[in-house]
Amino acid sequence: MRCSMALILSSCLVAAGPGFAVERVVFRHHDHQRQLQGRVVVEAQDGGLLFQTPDDALWAIEPDQLVRRTRDDAPFRLYSRDKLSQKLLAELPDGFDVLATAHYLICYNTSREYAQWCGSLFERLYLAFTNYWGRRGFHLSEPALPLVAIVFADQASYSRHTRPELGELANSIPGYYSLTTNRMTMLDLTGTSRAGRARGRSGGQAQINRILAQPEAERTVATIIHEATHQIAFNCGLHTRLSDCPMWFSEGIALYFETPDLTSAKGWKSIGAINRVHLAQFQDYLHRRSPDALAVLITDDKRFRDPNTSRDAYCEAWALTYYLMSRRSKEYVTYLRGLARKKPLVWDDAATRLAEFKQAFGEDLARLDSDFVKFMTTLR
Ligand SMILES: [Zn+2]
Repeated sequence: MRCSMALILSSCLVAAGPGFAVERVVFRHHDHQRQLQGRVVVEAQDGGLLFQTPDDALWAIEPDQLVRRTRDDAPFRLYSRDKLSQKLLAELPDGFDVLATAHYLICYNTSREYAQWCGSLFERLYLAFTNYWGRRGFHLSEPALPLVAIVFADQASYSRHTRPELGELANSIPGYYSLTTNRMTMLDLTGTSRAGRARGRSGGQAQINRILAQPEAERTVATIIHEATHQIAFNCGLHTRLSDCPMWFSEGIALYFETPDLTSAKGWKSIGAINRVHLAQFQDYLHRRSPDALAVLITDDKRFRDPNTSRDAYCEAWALTYYLMSRRSKEYVTYLRGLARKKPLVWDDAATRLAEFKQAFGEDLARLDSDFVKFMTTLR
């Protein structure tokens, strides 16, 4: 999950008023002026804006970037499915097509078979994810717009498109979900379109299955499921985009759901299986884990962003989620309800985060930590 937006809007924020009339803003963006039409989601006291466009992208506009702001009487509306599809094609390079499924628009310049494979994987995840939370008493809502995935056939076109958002990481991250554009962008790692072209026809389902049956496909499928889980969670009411949802929590859920099952020809079918990669990493990390690790995990997201500590932070987020889902699932859902209500761009301090965690799981953090570690060391 990526958030490239510079979140430096003033900390004193007020929610935008009711009505959601259409507004037009002109603002300086890099070295040129840009015009957007949409609605103000949050307005800072200093005039900074969080602005939503009809494709459900979010823009943070600083007061010194803003050139002009005008208001219309027309109500703000998100695009229809057809309009969104047209806009996406107009924005993408030549050679893209759109595949529509029940909840997704998949834009692709790779083989149609690969786009169809992605579509069926996403839909199965969507159904499994909503059922999973529904059974635990938390009912998710339908996304306001179809969920958008953009699938690139090759590294060159993927890097060109993603470099403004990812920078140099465009060459090393094969797929991501962006909190600001609300889209998933990914590379077709099976290379079905290249292989198809070499044979003079499109790559087929048999070839996708063959590639996904390789052991190294496990991490590829996990990455796709991980990012797709973030997108569903942020669009169906589990989290709010750009709110203070602790990273251990949002990443923990994506890690919990990502575990692929390559015994299934479709690559994924199960929820909450033990993730061997993260378990091995966590058991190794236990040797250097500090006594206050749990409190740090809950209150501070820094370790997730630092390349030196991110592997440990991610495996710990998976482990804590796995433990709480296995042993404390009722309390977990209570805690989740509180986080789901958080508003965009309102940042909690460490004391608030800790207090909310203790309110859900009990005051004795040391005892919970010892139960947690004991439970995780018994897993094989
Ligand atoms: Zn993630």
